[in-house]
Amino acid sequence: MTGEKRLLQALLATTRLIAANHPLQEVVHRLADELKGLLHADRCSVLIVDDEKHELAFHDSSALSPWERENIRFRMGEGVAGWVAQNREPVLIEDVKLDPRFKRHPGQLRKMVSMICVPLEMHGRLIGVLTLTTSQPEHVFVQDELELVVLIAAHISLALQSHRLYELSVLDGLTNVYNRRYLDQRLRQELADSRRHKKPLTVALLDLDHFKKLNDGYGHQAGDQVLCDLSGIISKTLREHDVLARYGGEEFAMILSGTSSADGLILGERLRGLIANTDFLYKEQKLPVTISLGLATFPDDADDVMGLLRAADKALYRAKAAGRNHVVAAGR
Ligand code: GH3
Ligand code: MG
Ligand code: MG
Repeated sequence: MTGEKRLLQALLATTRLIAANHPLQEVVHRLADELKGLLHADRCSVLIVDDEKHELAFHDSSALSPWERENIRFRMGEGVAGWVAQNREPVLIEDVKLDPRFKRHPGQLRKMVSMICVPLEMHGRLIGVLTLTTSQPEHVFVQDELELVVLIAAHISLALQSHRLYELSVLDGLTNVYNRRYLDQRLRQELADSRRHKKPLTVALLDLDHFKKLNDGYGHQAGDQVLCDLSGIISKTLREHDVLARYGGEEFAMILSGTSSADGLILGERLRGLIANTDFLYKEQKLPVTISLGLATFPDDADDVMGLLRAADKALYRAKAAGRNHVVAAGR
């Protein structure tokens, strides 16, 4: 195949991968694999900048040992990757043994001969570096290959950028769980799915009890921290395909697909008990945190998104009226 055709094919493959909107981890992994195959490299890895620590750490790569992923980090300016990050210039090294920038990590056994390393940038900001290496003495990268990697690196930067924009558009800034806009859209999809497959779906609304009092007594920052801690605890407790979103101030919503009203109640009780028994700490003070939950289930309690949310809200109101720290399911 001619060099030009090979290049076009590689670009097409990367554009398709990015457009398909797969999870970022997978996109980067597959782009790295694509490049590795194309250049017959021994490995291709992506290092991402850790802004706080001023260092580069492996994000995802092909053919890396777990030890390497865990232990190898480059400070800015250190090693070839660090040099590229600092100088924002691509480099082609024919033999790493002869290059003073190359740094071998103690414990790293892999043989390396030739290396290509290029910066990944977004809006003029460095986000990481992409590295390819060979391990056979006769296998040395050439200038054409460097140019190809530079082009593909631009595509990888684009994938990282669009993924970040996507995250910013669907996540709540304080708690990092989904926002209301995403929840509304996802609930419509999940409900259509449940209708098609004749499966139940339960929506749960969760509201913190006496949260105004908590803010007044311990300060708004303590309140913010409770919102974050609570989001983390609930996310960990839910199953992977359940959806948790911040619905408004101190109110959260959950989509529990395939969950009946009875199973929803069991889960709701578990969450309520878990939060009531968790010590929420702020500056060494123990904060009083409990939650109330209102549940509504398709098709028993309502048939559409609006109806479900309204029924769940009514149930939540009953949970509050019952003295708070309660779970109520609509129609029960
Ligand atoms: P109830 O048990 O009836 O739910 O009482 P409540 O005090 O929790 O309810 P209310 O609706 O009266 O007050 C909600 C409070 O939540 C008021 C507001 O200050 C607080 N709140 C909303 N959003 C945030 C936030 O992002 N951070 C903090 N710290 N507080 C918030
Ligand atoms: Mg409240
Ligand atoms: Mg509220």
